[in-house]
Amino acid sequence: MFYDMHVHSKFSTDSSLDMEEAVVKAINLGLTGIAFTDHLDIDFTDYEDEFYYDFNEYFLLLNTLKDKYSSKIKIISAVEIGMQPHVIQDTYNMIKNYKFDYIIGSTHLINKRDPYCGKYFRTGESKLDSYTEYLVEVYNNLKLYTDFKFNTMGHLDYIERYANFDDSMFYYSDFPALVDEIFKYIITKGISFEINTSTYLKQPLDTTLIKRYKELGGELITLGSDAHSPDRIACNFKIYADIIKNCGFNYINYFINGNPQAEKI
Ligand SMILES: [Zn+2]
Ligand SMILES: [Zn+2]
Repeated sequence: MFYDMHVHSKFSTDSSLDMEEAVVKAINLGLTGIAFTDHLDIDFTDYEDEFYYDFNEYFLLLNTLKDKYSSKIKIISAVEIGMQPHVIQDTYNMIKNYKFDYIIGSTHLINKRDPYCGKYFRTGESKLDSYTEYLVEVYNNLKLYTDFKFNTMGHLDYIERYANFDDSMFYYSDFPALVDEIFKYIITKGISFEINTSTYLKQPLDTTLIKRYKELGGELITLGSDAHSPDRIACNFKIYADIIKNCGFNYINYFINGNPQAEKI
């Protein structure tokens, strides 16, 4: 069971994962499906290479594997778009002629500063201020991307991955109003909430986030590993599927042709 709805093959600038190797690994793990969510992250400052890829080559390989392994696993075409206020039109123009099953909208840069490379965090700035600026950017991005439909908000608590505070964990209780606004917005728009297990390798997920999403009426929840290597595919899925279930969800979602589908937990 399970769809890993967030995997980066070597079409992603920062991954060398062979797509077929990932498919075989996913089959061996007993997954129902795998989505290849390669990066389209225009104007990614602080990184030498551009984060985009040849969609024609991507679909050619993906469709070949889809046919080859059709009796064993569902392979889902997808893209993870990096959201920034000034790249909306360019991003839209690049993907508009392709039929992705699934689009993840992720905020990786905050006011052009990158937490991954360490340039986001300012010396002496508090965790509260730093995370608040990030969340405001996430919320603004969500509201700005009105021209094309994306399906999932990627890794809401991404910022904690690269933070270096005494306790870097992202707690709902630190930002209840902002997180509520974000949840209410995605719920209204039919955008799902991604539980990204890669974020919880350093510190666990604050399950209050899932409970609050549910309380506010959230129904769509996706599970992704953000794997860039075979060993990370579906990482800790059983643990987080149980957590999701304990928070009141009986189904986890995946997307085909932009439409949410449900798999029972
Ligand atoms: Zn991401
Ligand atoms: Zn990713």
